[in-house]
Amino acid sequence: KLPPIDGDFYDLSLKLTPQQRELQLKVRNFMEDEIRPIANEYWNKAEFPFEIIPKMAALNICGLTIEGYETPNESSVMEGIIAMEMARVDVSISTFFGVHSGLAMSSINICGSEAQKQEWLPKMARMEVIGAFGLTEPDVGSAVAGGMGTTCRREGDEWILNGQKKWIGNATFADVTVIWANDEETNRVKGFLVRKGNPGFKAEKIEGKMALRTVQNALITLTNCRVPESDRLQKCDSFKDTAKVLKVTRAAVAWQAVGCARGAYESALKYTKKREQFGKPIASFQLVQNHLVEMLANLTAMQTMCFRLSELQDEDLLTDEHASLAKVFCSLRTRDVVRSAREVMGGNGILLEYDVARFVADAEAIYSYEGTKEINTLIVGRAITGYGAFV
Ligand code: FAD
Repeated sequence: KLPPIDGDFYDLSLKLTPQQRELQLKVRNFMEDEIRPIANEYWNKAEFPFEIIPKMAALNICGLTIEGYETPNESSVMEGIIAMEMARVDVSISTFFGVHSGLAMSSINICGSEAQKQEWLPKMARMEVIGAFGLTEPDVGSAVAGGMGTTCRREGDEWILNGQKKWIGNATFADVTVIWANDEETNRVKGFLVRKGNPGFKAEKIEGKMALRTVQNALITLTNCRVPESDRLQKCDSFKDTAKVLKVTRAAVAWQAVGCARGAYESALKYTKKREQFGKPIASFQLVQNHLVEMLANLTAMQTMCFRLSELQDEDLLTDEHASLAKVFCSLRTRDVVRSAREVMGGNGILLEYDVARFVADAEAIYSYEGTKEINTLIVGRAITGYGAFV
């Protein structure tokens, strides 16, 4: 059994093997020892702590479910647990990791040729190169499946990319950015591996964020950006292939929401046991207990839902609507949990040093990225009614 954890009320970690529990503990220790002491400082400065990358690499958890490229070939359940453990301490670090290990590595694993996988995945597993994933655009967010503005056209052995991408995590420093673009000739989506230093690729940091401030999100401008045919993702033929990546990463984002809620709940619980008013710990008041129990109920529902979601993934039964339902439910419930956590901490709940303020802000980003609540709702709505209601 892992050391007592307030937020795992139904002891889900007991469903893991001893080796998996050891890995969970290793990630938790890394997050507690290396990230917690610096999380608020970097969030406040809106800077990324590059010094943590070698220590994170030593955990050997990148591309966790991928087999054969110096990657662990672990279960999807474990991938979810790791996303949760990271977000429990710092959602920004969990997002940095999710973009690199989830979005970027999965794009190459699902849509890349054998040669592309051999070239990139081992280096990415060792975190010697860091990845980014460029899908969203300034003018096309939720509607990316319906067509994006970024274009590609072939000229001999090269492709010419033009357009802009917005919100792209890690892209200010990434060694490789996956760029999705519409083929001018066929109007079908293609994916490209754009290498750092490409003169047609410019990434500017987006300033002034009120959430996930440690994550370096970029506005990318592609101006006649030349990419060799050998760097086109060879197994991507349409947006359906891009969606295969999103299905997997959306499940991980649902787990991130669990981590965010869990971090806030655990901080709040600890606080209410220490903080005294009217001569008693505030945890002894009925109305405060009501908040705590509601938080725990939401958290436990989210955790058990995500656990089954990842089991479905491991059983190769995961559908888009399975992932979307969990993303909708967990990002909604997380908002409730972090708000209650802030409430039971009174004024201190808005101070960064008590952590919960950061979770409140970061829950807003989880709510909107990897498909907003509305878009994921419409994906499930279409699946259960047979009516697409997007337009
Ligand atoms: P819009 O699409 O403009 O939506 C605005 C509102 O309209 C939303 O409430 C939406 O739900 C609603 N809406 C839109 N269409 C409908 C409809 N048909 N019916 C009902 N309501 C609708 N993208 C990447 O490609 N890579 C990244 O690394 C990345 N990282 C991100 C990090 C952060 C912190 C954030 C905030 C975003 C990131 N994104 C990234 C982009 C993210 O996926 C988009 O923000 C998201 O898909 C929503 O797009 P949008 O912001 O353009 O909102």
